[in-house]
Amino acid sequence: MNADLHIHSRFSGATSKNMRIATIAEQAPLKGLELVGTGDALHPAWLAEVRTLEEVGEGIFRSGTTSFILTCEVEDARKVHHLIILPSISAAEELRERFRRYSLDLERDGRPHLTLRGEEIADIVNETDAVLGPSHAFVPWTSIYKEYDSLRECYGTARIAFLELGLSADTELADTIAELQDVTFLSNSDAHSPWPNKLGREFNRFRLGDLSFTELKRALFRRRGNRVVLNVGFDPRLGKYHRTACIKCYTHYQLEEAEKLSWRCSRCGGRIKKGVRDRIREIATWKEPHHPEHRPPYLRIAPLSEIVAQALKVSNVYSPRVQRVWRELVMAFKSEIRVLVDVDPEDIAKVGGEAIAELIRRFRAQDFDIVEGGGGKYGEIIFNRKGKGAKNQLSLDNW
Ligand SMILES: [Zn+2]
Ligand SMILES: [Zn+2]
Repeated sequence: MNADLHIHSRFSGATSKNMRIATIAEQAPLKGLELVGTGDALHPAWLAEVRTLEEVGEGIFRSGTTSFILTCEVEDARKVHHLIILPSISAAEELRERFRRYSLDLERDGRPHLTLRGEEIADIVNETDAVLGPSHAFVPWTSIYKEYDSLRECYGTARIAFLELGLSADTELADTIAELQDVTFLSNSDAHSPWPNKLGREFNRFRLGDLSFTELKRALFRRRGNRVVLNVGFDPRLGKYHRTACIKCYTHYQLEEAEKLSWRCSRCGGRIKKGVRDRIREIATWKEPHHPEHRPPYLRIAPLSEIVAQALKVSNVYSPRVQRVWRELVMAFKSEIRVLVDVDPEDIAKVGGEAIAELIRRFRAQDFDIVEGGGGKYGEIIFNRKGKGAKNQLSLDNW
């Protein structure tokens, strides 16, 4: 069961007007997703849309072949984001009521601002039987580790159910931090639009009994055999906050250099933001990752539409030609993740042409260079150098 548990509706700031249930439900299976978080579950108009769907299991709503579970994100008094997964519509309404006196934009913004601290939010969430954890935990603007050096400083003794890695980190990086050894990691897209390079660009594969909130909660706490069996996400170097960089001209800096410059870019005077890689190095316990036994593999992927665009030598990933070929591939082989990882390149060539098949071969062999992301600019995969040879072959077979 593939699930993307963090998206935003059109009622959050800076989101696509196409973030409608029907459109998300139609796009999700193309990415191989069976379960998607609704996002913005505290927003009255969005919750009203969810309410029109058939409830097919405890806290699970269905549109077409896609299941939805209630989720939302809130920003606390220190600008730290928390992702919340809720058991029911009534729990969402209860949470909205309890947050009301601490928020001025609860009815307006799908991702409301609260005047509460992390620990206070966690206590309220836990009392409503919902679960929470820090969103995109290492990013420089709105995350727990931009503000604190430990989980406890944010949450006190309150229980959290997971930590979301964010696009610029993976388990290799996060497992250098001792206090996270027992925490389940989630890899979610945080999509603001339903299109294939956003929705499901990161997701989790769960092992569950049936599909319900309680079963999902058990998986987060790794009970009764339920668990996350695979995290699928960006190569963290592709994330837009991976490296320390200027937010105006995107020049990369070493941490010491940025400190010496008092976080002002020597080229353009813009602000320098600490990258996720450097932040994790600061708080790391170990130089090398220590993966606990329960930690699932992390499969590093990149959006297929971007690989298609490169193969077709088209710079705009949203161009109709790229979108058409992407759709043909995904329709022919059921989902994007299968094309990226499973399908025989010879079969891919028959549908999408030899150039795409060749890039998929090289992608699987990790035969490419990466221009790392930073300062708000995504990284890029560069296929132009030939013949570096295969490293670890990507495969989904063992999971
Ligand atoms: Zn966020
Ligand atoms: Zn600059």
